[in-house]
Amino acid sequence: MSKKNQSKITSLVTSGKNPQAFAGSVNTPIFQTSTVIFPDLESFSKAERGRAVYPITKDAGSYDYGYGIAGTPTTFALQQALCELSGADGCVITPSGLAAITTALLAFLSSGDHVLMVDSVYGPTRRFCNKELKRQGIETTYYNPTIGSDIAALIQPNTKVIFLESPGSLTFEMQDVPAIVAVAKAHNITTIMDNSWAAPLFFQPLSHGVDVEVLAVTKYIGGHSDIILGAVLSKESHTKAINKVMHHYGTSTSPYDCSLALRGLRTVGARLKQQQETTGSLLKWIEAQPEVDKILTPQHPSDAGHDLWKRDYSGAASFFSIVLNQTYSHAQLSAMLDAMSLFMIGVSWGGYESLVIPFDPSAIRTASTWPHKGSCLRFYVGLEDAEDLIADLEAAFKRLRAAK
Ligand SMILES: *Cc1c(COP(=O)(O)O)cnc(C)c1O
Repeated sequence: MSKKNQSKITSLVTSGKNPQAFAGSVNTPIFQTSTVIFPDLESFSKAERGRAVYPITKDAGSYDYGYGIAGTPTTFALQQALCELSGADGCVITPSGLAAITTALLAFLSSGDHVLMVDSVYGPTRRFCNKELKRQGIETTYYNPTIGSDIAALIQPNTKVIFLESPGSLTFEMQDVPAIVAVAKAHNITTIMDNSWAAPLFFQPLSHGVDVEVLAVTKYIGGHSDIILGAVLSKESHTKAINKVMHHYGTSTSPYDCSLALRGLRTVGARLKQQQETTGSLLKWIEAQPEVDKILTPQHPSDAGHDLWKRDYSGAASFFSIVLNQTYSHAQLSAMLDAMSLFMIGVSWGGYESLVIPFDPSAIRTASTWPHKGSCLRFYVGLEDAEDLIADLEAAFKRLRAAK
C-alpha cells in the first residue's frame, strides 16, 4: 500500500522509523549528544553546511548534523513522524507547546506589525501577545472566534499574521478555518493555527491551507503526563523563517523527551478511540443532570459549532466543559470536586488520567461577551472505565446538591 493512502492510525505506528540505520532497533535510540566527531574535514564541512540550520526532515535517512543543539537522530525521527502525519515539509521541536506558539509568532512578526488573535485562545498565548509582543512594538487585536470571513474587516495594512485555535481553549468554540484562510490568502497574511486539540488525528490544518501548525506535543502525543514538548510544522514556503528563529534563539530540546514523545505517538490512535467512546457515555449521563445548563464541546449536537466540526473534523478530543445552572461559591465547588476519586484537580490534559478544573471565561474575553452566568467546569476524560467515571461524577453532583 502506498503511504499516501495509508490510514493515519497506521501512520502513527510506522512514521519516523529507520531500523536499518540503527542496528535493526525498532525504535530510534536516544542519541544523548552535544558534540559530534567527524572523521575528516570534508564531512565536517558538509555537516556544517547541512544541519547547522535546523533540519528539514524529509530525508531522515541521512544523519549529517554538526552539533546537538539542532537535535540528534532521535529528534529527527520525531520531526519526520510529525511531518508525515501533518503533511508538513518542515518541523521544529520546541521545549513546550507554548514555545512552539511563541516561535511561530516571532518568525512572522516584527516591530510595527499587527496580529489578529482569536479571543478564545489558550491563556498563555494571550499573555505573550499582551506582554512580550507589545514590548516589541507588535500590536494585537482579538477577534470573536465565530467571525468567519468577516475577519476581513479587521485587517490593517500592517497585519502580518492571523492566529487561529479551533476549538478554543476551555470553551471549545469552532472556527471556520477555510473561510478565514481564504481571507488571509487574499491579503497575503500568514495563518498560524494551534491544533493541539485535534492532533495528531482529527484535523490537518496544512491540508486546509493554513501556513503554520503549532502543537502541544505535551498533550495527546506525550500521553502520559511526563513530558513538556511542542512542535511547529509548516510547508516549505514558511520553514526558513521558523528555522531561523530556532537557530538565533538557541532553542533546543532533550533527545530523551523526544523519544518519550515517539513512544506516546505509537499508541495515541488506540488511546483516543477508547477515550472518545468513554466521553460519549459521559456526555449522555451529564446532559441529564438538572444542574447542567449547557455542554460545551463541538461533538455534542447542541453545540453551536457542531456543523462546522462535522464538516471539517474526523473525530473529537476527549474533553468537554459544562456551564452550571447558577454561580456556585468556592466552598460549594470545593465540596463537589475535592472528594472526586478519579477526576483529579489539575491543569493540562492528554494524559491517561481524568482531570477537572473550574474556570471563568467572562474574566478573560475582550472581543466577545461570555453569554452564560453559571459556574464553568472543564472535564478531561482519561483511560479509566466509563462506569467508574460516571460513578465519580454521580457522587460529585450529589455533594453539590447537598452543599446548596
Ligand atoms: C497545553 C496547551 C498548550 C501549551 O502546551 P505546553 O506544552 O503545556 O506549553 C498550547 N495550546 C493548547 C491549546 C494547549 O491546550
